[in-house]
Amino acid sequence: MGTRCGIGYDSHRLVPGGPLRLGGVSIPVPLSLTGHSDGDAVAHALTDAVLGAAAADDIGTLFPDSEPANRGRDSLDMLRQAVSRISDRGWLVVNADVTVIAEHPRLAPYRDAMRAALAGALGVDADAVSIKGKTNEGMGWIGRGEGIACIAVATIGRTDT
Ligand SMILES: [Zn+2]
Repeated sequence: MGTRCGIGYDSHRLVPGGPLRLGGVSIPVPLSLTGHSDGDAVAHALTDAVLGAAAADDIGTLFPDSEPANRGRDSLDMLRQAVSRISDRGWLVVNADVTVIAEHPRLAPYRDAMRAALAGALGVDADAVSIKGKTNEGMGWIGRGEGIACIAVATIGRTDT
């Protein structure tokens, strides 16, 4: 078959102090996501989706927390490297679909900027990238605003077909 699908999931804790880096965009709110890198859960979930589609390991294997070079790293760079890795194996990204689960902030005003930033890293047009925002209806740790979760799916195709 000439196409494959991969899924990725990520979550990070919200802490005081902005801006919030999400989907390659800096959102001007007084909150941010903690993590060894810039904490961009959207970019991380998408990186795992891309790698998973090609069965090419995962983000934790390629960019370990123990590696000082990954501290504060721009997560879009990790996504670009994942795309490069699958490209070496004869795959390119076809499209990506992302669901962000966050009680706040509202993501709608930033959605198009995220699509453009992620599309650039994925090597596709912005209309091949979907971002959907959901709340958790006030339930659990997401509902209490303790963190943000993200689920991403990516489709990849053979470069030689
Ligand atoms: Zn992460």
